[in-house]
Amino acid sequence: MVRCYTRAQIRECSLTRAIAALAFFVACCLSPLYAAAQTEGSAVPPPVSSGGPVPVANDARVAGDEERTRFILDLSADVEIGAFTLGDPYRVVIDLPEVAFELPTDAGLTGRGLVTGWRYGLFARGRSRIVLDTTMPVKIDKAFVLAAVEAQPARLVVDLVRTTPAEFQAELQKTAMTREASNTVDAGKGDLLGMAPSQRRAKPLVMLDPGHGGLDAGATAQSGVLEKDIVLKFAFELKQRLEATGKVDVVMTREDDRFIPLRERVRMARDQAVDLFVSVHADSTREDFVRGTTVYTLSEKASDTAAAALAAKENAADSIAGLESKEDTDEVSDILMDLTRRETRTFSSAFANNLVTELSNTTRMIKNPHRSAGFWVLKAPDVPSVLVEIGYLSNAEDEKLLTSDDWRTKVSEAVGNAVMRFFGPKFAAANP
Ligand SMILES: [Zn+2]
Repeated sequence: MVRCYTRAQIRECSLTRAIAALAFFVACCLSPLYAAAQTEGSAVPPPVSSGGPVPVANDARVAGDEERTRFILDLSADVEIGAFTLGDPYRVVIDLPEVAFELPTDAGLTGRGLVTGWRYGLFARGRSRIVLDTTMPVKIDKAFVLAAVEAQPARLVVDLVRTTPAEFQAELQKTAMTREASNTVDAGKGDLLGMAPSQRRAKPLVMLDPGHGGLDAGATAQSGVLEKDIVLKFAFELKQRLEATGKVDVVMTREDDRFIPLRERVRMARDQAVDLFVSVHADSTREDFVRGTTVYTLSEKASDTAAAALAAKENAADSIAGLESKEDTDEVSDILMDLTRRETRTFSSAFANNLVTELSNTTRMIKNPHRSAGFWVLKAPDVPSVLVEIGYLSNAEDEKLLTSDDWRTKVSEAVGNAVMRFFGPKFAAANP
């Protein structure tokens, strides 16, 4: 086993792991020989767009009862699909090549029969996904696409029937390889990030991480405003502001409405050996009077119960998109790694303090604005990482701010100033 001790070695190891992951992806998803070579529980590669116009999904419905439930999606063209079930919680994943979803705004909010609700969106490059939440273990009885006939659109149909927990488990075993292949996400590094890691960078490199994306919408305001859109807009403005200083380079984990697994975001930060990672989110809570900005850093023990609950919610992002929710346990535990981690946490806290100072002068903060909990996205051991919840979409006043251009300008400026201070006085002084 290769051991990773120093920062340089850790980065090298990350690169080796990335190459191995990419090789696995190519082997699993692109080579038909791989699928053919499987004799038992063969892996079926997920459908991927082959170029050409993207089919449009313009209507969907759920019909049936608790014995048999049918999910139907109307499409402008035939597509290939894949489908499998997932447990903990019970879900059905339908994989499609990239589809433009032009569905009614309330699509998926409610279900029927065995389906309690569902979500949809871009899952990875050239791939869309629909995830159905079910009330109990179900079996996919049929999954097919009816070709378009004259005025009738093409129709994706998935029939679900109830099953026993034992049968459900047996099915999970059979589809393990397909799930592995389907859930391997090439998040498009290179074309999104376009910057090679280098120890001799002229400028510090900051990675901005707009939370959620694709079929994981994050929090939703009463008005229908989505967290994934709010935080992307904020991150773009912040990127522009930081780049305008000419003092730092900036990359983003996503620049469009796509899903990126949490561990992929961490991997991107490590592969690029970024100097600072800032994850941007907007919270929501049942207590609609709660409002203000909060800054979070990583800790094993949460600073308070609200922070613990929030981390659990944010950590569920992968599960929402139909990934098996598991923490990345690929962590080397030894004394040198612990030292790196400790040093990183000191830097993360220093940046969090800068943020609180700058933001407190600019916008309303919640009580005790620097909090901590076990956020997976902050777990890069060698990258100072902070998560900012810029406000609450569940609060009407905060929602007004979060959607206001003036507020976005002001607050992104404050975050920009905190970044400049983090990299030292010469940066702070030169910030225009
Ligand atoms: Zn979030």
